[in-house]
Amino acid sequence: MLDDLASLEAPRPIVVLTGGDPFKRDDVAALVAHGNGRGLAMAVSPSGTPLASASNLEGIRRAGARTVSFSLDGASPATHDAFRQVTGSFRWTVMGCRLARQAGLRVQLNSTVTADTVHELPALLVLARELGVSLWSVFFLVAAGRGAALTSLTASETEQVLHFLYEAAPSLPLKTTEAPQYRRVVIERSRHVGGEGDFVGPLHEELTAELRWLVPESQGSARAPLATSRRPPLAVGDGRGVVFVSRRGDVAPSGFLPLHVGNVRSTPLTDLYRQSPLLQAIRDPDRLGGRCGRCEYRRICGGSRAHAFAASGDPLAEDPMCPYEPRLASG
Ligand code: SF4
Repeated sequence: MLDDLASLEAPRPIVVLTGGDPFKRDDVAALVAHGNGRGLAMAVSPSGTPLASASNLEGIRRAGARTVSFSLDGASPATHDAFRQVTGSFRWTVMGCRLARQAGLRVQLNSTVTADTVHELPALLVLARELGVSLWSVFFLVAAGRGAALTSLTASETEQVLHFLYEAAPSLPLKTTEAPQYRRVVIERSRHVGGEGDFVGPLHEELTAELRWLVPESQGSARAPLATSRRPPLAVGDGRGVVFVSRRGDVAPSGFLPLHVGNVRSTPLTDLYRQSPLLQAIRDPDRLGGRCGRCEYRRICGGSRAHAFAASGDPLAEDPMCPYEPRLASG
């Protein structure tokens, strides 16, 4: 599969080895070296366990990895360990971030936003800055699989968090996962489209007040000129610049959209990505349904296909986590 991906012309895809815990495989460094030797950017996403050790992290760096990503969902052991249901996970994750930085790796931090963790976002941002994180990926829980047992935000709360992230972005490079409408928010805010009443709500006010308390230099950032880190993030998402390959070789648009489009044991991943009818449909904004289908932002946003599928069973339906009412008439 790595050789197949390496046959693509530059820019080649980034390969993220995730899990489970990739450090449970004793050949993870060999896989990194193989991909790196063929010109692929290799990244590893370890779990916060004792296996995220200095020797394992140095091993993948020597093999050619440049980036690791860790999951940290709360700013304290109480919140994070409760979320992961593993005592000690917070300590191992923070230690893993520090060891990765010492090994010369860039660190991406992934944080899942739920009704229980959302209030710790400002403190998480501060912790991420202290850990020298290069990119903070804020993931908006998809209520499917194990996520179905957790409480996700409402569409209105999601919108308020996205506006908070716009204000936080100058403090730390960040992106969203399963909330592509952040691109709309960045564009609207940078153009000053809409009034303040469109986004101010109690959750937004709570988060921004705490951000200004914890990161005083962010004060007034809501009115600051557009900063580099506030550029709309890349328009990639489930099946659109991203695919997920399971340990059995099954390919899905993402890890949060469990619709298999084939298996890399029988069909090259590059062929599946280009030719799968489902992936082609997902990448065609004119085939989207509901508000996403008639939205003026559909080509640069398109909504989360995972949220649409989790709510309706239709991966092309409108994204229920976005409250935006399109201004364009259908067609
Ligand atoms: S309605 Fe759909 S396409 Fe439009 S901004 Fe919301 S999620 Fe994006």
